[in-house]
Amino acid sequence: MKSFDFTVPVLVAGAGACGAVAALAAREAGAAVTVIERDDRAGGSTGMSQGLVCAAGTRSQAAHGVTDNGDIFFADIMAKVRGETDPLLARILAGNSAPALEWLIDRHDFPWELDTRFRASYGNSRQRLHGWPGHSGIDMVQLLHARMSDRGIDVLMETRLVDIFTDDDDRIVGVALEGADGRIDHVGCDTLILACGGFGANRAMTDRYMPETRALRYNGHEGSHGEAIFLGEKLGAALGDMGSYQGYAMLTDPQGISVPPPVLLEGGLIVNRTGARFIDETLDIAGMVHSIASQPDGIGWVVYDAEIEARCAAIPELATLIELRAPKTAQTAEALARLIGAEPETLCATIAAARDAGRTGDADALGRHWGDARPPQPPYRALRVAGALYHTQGGLRVDAQARVLRRDGTAFPNLFAGGGSARSVSGPSSWGYLPAMGLTTAVTLGWLAGRAAGALAAT
Ligand SMILES: Cc1cc2nc3c(=O)[nH]c(=O)nc-3n(C[C@H](O)[C@H](O)[C@H](O)COP(=O)(O)OP(=O)(O)OC[C@H]3O[C@@H](n4cnc5c(N)ncnc54)[C@H](O)[C@@H]3O)c2cc1C
Repeated sequence: MKSFDFTVPVLVAGAGACGAVAALAAREAGAAVTVIERDDRAGGSTGMSQGLVCAAGTRSQAAHGVTDNGDIFFADIMAKVRGETDPLLARILAGNSAPALEWLIDRHDFPWELDTRFRASYGNSRQRLHGWPGHSGIDMVQLLHARMSDRGIDVLMETRLVDIFTDDDDRIVGVALEGADGRIDHVGCDTLILACGGFGANRAMTDRYMPETRALRYNGHEGSHGEAIFLGEKLGAALGDMGSYQGYAMLTDPQGISVPPPVLLEGGLIVNRTGARFIDETLDIAGMVHSIASQPDGIGWVVYDAEIEARCAAIPELATLIELRAPKTAQTAEALARLIGAEPETLCATIAAARDAGRTGDADALGRHWGDARPPQPPYRALRVAGALYHTQGGLRVDAQARVLRRDGTAFPNLFAGGGSARSVSGPSSWGYLPAMGLTTAVTLGWLAGRAAGALAAT
């Protein structure tokens, strides 16, 4: 059997949300933890995200009068994916989302609270996205790293997992790590947690598993190379839903900043180059990326107004766009059309039709139910947007403890995975993504993996 100069009890590969949460949970379970991270600074996809996480049945929801629980969340997941996911994993994620988040609040002083700007929408039948005012994903990463430092968890930056060694019983015995100078070290480990994110930056893998994303820009972390997934596959791990991903239809062009969904939910529209709408903007947060990519020039304009802007201005992404003076502004629909190069008649008719539908609250010609959302009125705003691939949702299949499964359905005894490295519950393609399922998978599976790995290593 392969031997090592030294062995660590819990090794976590990747220091985004999943890896950091897993490390904190394993430490709390009594194990010494070492985290490795390929980049020279903490961030990952988590650092690029809006930092919003789903959790069902939290104290914060109750304080806002929102009735929710794991069963309702589970039903929402299964409805969104039309039954095409692993129901056990859906139950595990739905049922553990609130305990994981509240553990971060109670034990690690995270200021999560229900984000009331994010209405129940896009398949979440309840308001269940949690964040904290004015924050984004990078704040979350920094706080997680501060907490790891407080707990004495070593994080080795510029250290990349490049291989995994097993014994004859498929037990992980150690790993090969590459440092910034290219030197390879072999290190033993009692348990290994794979938290290296997804594979959105790996063109060979996206071409193989989701060729339709070739038409999209990539706006995810450049370190998402799928290394955990192909190293796991090499060991005989089962993969699931490799065609699953979150696209996003509202990446501003040219700023490369996400327009936050509340801009649409409050009443914003998406029009194409001519000024015509082409989708129900509230139907499918991820899948509508393809509707926009197929429009002339592959671009659209998010048309909203000053009142919506004022209501959403505290959301960091919109605040930055305003600071950059990215939104085009105009007093009339005709003037806005001239400014964005749309056909004035078309844009005026589009806005007028939306206002008519908004007055009745009924479904409009595209099927959008307006409810209490209010279509744009003067003075107008518009942001040019394009469709992008944000992150992948398929990967290593895991069980209820986040243990990686072999192809025969049995679990590796001491190998765990979560976040973008694991198969989530977003179905087989782009249409099954519920808002904030990416970080929900990272935080919840990270928590489960860390607790199980920590307990195993501590025995
Ligand atoms: C613009 C944008 C906005 C988003 N907004 C949201 C949101 O608001 N809510 C939501 O739920 N989801 C959101 N997502 C998705 C979410 O960010 C991801 O699903 C989530 O961050 C995945 O967490 P993770 O810990 O698995 O991966 P990451 O945060 O990417 O962390 C993985 C880490 O592993 C490192 N790594 C990679 N390979 C190796 C290796 N071989 N060895 C060592 N380290 C390695 C990487 O450098 C990285 O730091 C967004 C994504 C993007 C791109």
